[in-house]
Amino acid sequence: MGAALATVPYALLSGTRAAAQPRAVDHPSAEWQPASTSNYTRSSRPTAYPVDHVVIHVTQETYADTLSIFRDPERQVSAHYVVRSSDGHVAQCVREADIAWHAGNWDYNTRSIGIEHEGWVDRPEYFTNAMYEQSARLTAAICTTYGIPKDREHIIAHHEVPGSDHTDPGPLWDWTRYIRLVNFA
Ligand SMILES: [Zn+2]
Repeated sequence: MGAALATVPYALLSGTRAAAQPRAVDHPSAEWQPASTSNYTRSSRPTAYPVDHVVIHVTQETYADTLSIFRDPERQVSAHYVVRSSDGHVAQCVREADIAWHAGNWDYNTRSIGIEHEGWVDRPEYFTNAMYEQSARLTAAICTTYGIPKDREHIIAHHEVPGSDHTDPGPLWDWTRYIRLVNFA
């Protein structure tokens, strides 16, 4: 009797915790590092909008500074994911169902997942094997989830977004290697 009663509060506590903490990340190995809710648009993709592109970015900031910019409600910018240079660690900042503000083009924002890579367009030492490999795994999983072809028509550079005044990821980003990794991830 005593033992049976003792299990009740534990069960209630476990249920409460489970309800309060739904699974945060879409990519299982990602770390949840949420952007300010002022920096993206809540949505219910792919029901609300089709998701048919992945946009590749380079941060021009450190990994840590990028996360703090996304947390700052004054900055009005975010991306779904940030990949760290040194080890390919992935942070998720916006749920894939929501619309991150990364492409500088509303139509492209609505229909894409944005991935930031720590580094600078003119510093190729930031484009490490680990970063290419982990980013390619992430992009491959996104393409599989939404039925996006794993090609350069659908996995695009920020500078290829119509109206973009950004240059990232720049000419030193190895697209041939990246697309190959995405296809064999
Ligand atoms: Zn960009």
